[in-house]
Amino acid sequence: MKIAEIYRSIQGEGALTGTESVFIRVSGCNLRCWFCDTPYASWKPEGDDLSVNEIMDRVSVWDSRHVVLTGGEPMLFAEMIPLCNRLRAENYHITVETAGTLHLPVQCDLMSISPKTSNSAPDAIDHPRWNRRHERSRFVPHVIRQLLHDFNYQLKFVVDTEDDIDEVEDYIKQFPEIVRAQVYLMPQGRNQDELERTETWLLPRCQQLQLQYCPRKQIEWFGALKGS
Ligand code: SF4
Repeated sequence: MKIAEIYRSIQGEGALTGTESVFIRVSGCNLRCWFCDTPYASWKPEGDDLSVNEIMDRVSVWDSRHVVLTGGEPMLFAEMIPLCNRLRAENYHITVETAGTLHLPVQCDLMSISPKTSNSAPDAIDHPRWNRRHERSRFVPHVIRQLLHDFNYQLKFVVDTEDDIDEVEDYIKQFPEIVRAQVYLMPQGRNQDELERTETWLLPRCQQLQLQYCPRKQIEWFGALKGS
C-alpha cells in the first residue's frame, strides 16, 4: 500500500479532538475535491509502497495508543484489512477516516465519515474528466448505510456557504438512523482567518440545529502543514 506519510500529532477534528495519535496517510483517492488539503495523497499521490510489517515498525516508534488511518481514501486498499487486524491485535485504538464511498470489512473503533457534497466538485472546465468521475462517485447511499450499520461512526461535513447546510440536512434526512449528536459541521478554509469568518455564522447555526460544530483545531495549532 502506498503511504504518503506516517507521523505523530494531535487529532484536531471530531469526537477525539485533542487525542495524541499516530497518523498513517495512505496515498491515492477515488475523488478529487477542489479544496483537498492533502493533494500529495489525491491529485498527485506521493509515497513509498510499504508492507504491513514495515508500517507497524514505523507506528511502534511512538508510544501513542491511538492510530488514525487517513488519506487519500484508505478504503480503496484491501491491505487495510490485515493492517487493521494487526493494529487491533496490538491493542491500538483505530480510527478510519473515509469519504464513505467504499466499504471494507476492517476492524476499527471509530469510522469517521466525511461525505462529499456538491460543494466539493473540481472545476468542470479545468478538470472535465475528474469532474464527471467525482460527481458519479461521491455519493453511494448503500455504502453509507452499511458503514453506519457496521461501525461506531461520526459524520463530518465541510461547509462553505449557508446553502451547504440545507444540503447537509437533506443528506441526513435520507438516513434516519443517523444520530444528530454524531454529526459535525466543519468550516471550509485553509487558514485561521477563513475558518474564523465562517465560524461567526456556522457555530450558532450548529447550536440551533443540534449538530456539532467542528473548529478544525489542527489548522489553528499547526496551520495547513504536511505532517500536522
Ligand atoms: S476525498 Fe479527501 S483525500 Fe480525496 S480528494 Fe477529497 S478531500 Fe482529498
